[in-house]
Amino acid sequence: MKAFEQNIRKVEPYVPGEQPQGQVIKLNTNENPYPPAPGVLEAMQNLEAHMDTLRLYPDPTSDCLVEALADYYGVEKERVFVGVGSDDVLSMCFLTFFNSDKPIFFPDITYSFYKVWAELYRIPYECKAVDKDFRMIKEDYYGENGGVIFPNPNAPTSLYEDLEFVEDIIRHNQDVIVIVDEAYIDFAGHSALELIDKYDNLIVTQTFSKARSMAGMRIGYAIGSPLLIKYLNDAKYSFNSYTMNKTSLVYGTAAVKDRGYFDETIHKIVETREWAAEEFAKLGFVFPKPSGNFIFVSHPDYDARELFEALKAEGIYVRYWGSRRIEQYMRVTVGTRAEMETLFDFLRKYIADRG
Ligand code: PMP
Repeated sequence: MKAFEQNIRKVEPYVPGEQPQGQVIKLNTNENPYPPAPGVLEAMQNLEAHMDTLRLYPDPTSDCLVEALADYYGVEKERVFVGVGSDDVLSMCFLTFFNSDKPIFFPDITYSFYKVWAELYRIPYECKAVDKDFRMIKEDYYGENGGVIFPNPNAPTSLYEDLEFVEDIIRHNQDVIVIVDEAYIDFAGHSALELIDKYDNLIVTQTFSKARSMAGMRIGYAIGSPLLIKYLNDAKYSFNSYTMNKTSLVYGTAAVKDRGYFDETIHKIVETREWAAEEFAKLGFVFPKPSGNFIFVSHPDYDARELFEALKAEGIYVRYWGSRRIEQYMRVTVGTRAEMETLFDFLRKYIADRG
């Protein structure tokens, strides 16, 4: 090792799902199979008019997008923070809010980026084991800690916990910041945003990547008390003032304004999810009750890694980790009905061939 390497920050990076090119059925990174709202296309066509403005830096406050989100959720603008996908927002939250010598708590089976940010920023952490059915045990989060974060619905399990459960964890942790990562909440149930007035230690993050069909644009946001949002902005301005580029601001604002399309897309995905869950069950797969736009499946008779590889060879991409406790599980994003039919045709044949 070269001497200078000793001073280099070394991290084991997060590994994103594959982004294969060409004609594949892509059910591996929880994208939305439907296009963004029609208003986004209109904004794209108008973009020529904005050409000259590309010369200039974007608005560092992201005001139009912040305002659109504040209107959508009926909250003050001072409660909204936007970033380059919720990954950027969450990373800023780790940097800003988890600044204690005590460990932060998060589930052992969860979004694997949490561990990476904790390591990157040298935040002590403790993973709390979910139970045998992959459910979080709320009492595990009562002990002294430096902050709490969990997704609801959880990923990759797709399990949703009701607001009573979420509130119980927040109530037991009022001396630290609790972050509820709601990347998939629109496919599930009540949002912790309903608790935002009641708890000034709560931060809720959401994204445009899933229900709003804009993973390629990279837009995420956090909602919390004006004080917490101020601290987040202070950290952001100390890092990069211009996180949001002009196109994300314009397209993102257009997307938020179309409520009807948003509701319709979610409805279609939830309908396909429920049907797909029945099909998986008919084939003997087991899975926790899905509440996101994905299903976390395992089959008692077929090895998950082999099945994952067989699917891939067929041009059907799903996600497989092979990590502890979830070696026999694959996460399957809910695609269009037609994509899912192709998946099930393959699975039926796979099972029939093996008897
Ligand atoms: N949280 C969870 C639980 C996720 O699964 C993802 C998607 N990988 C994210 C946050 C980040 O999504 P994005 O950065 O696209 O908003």
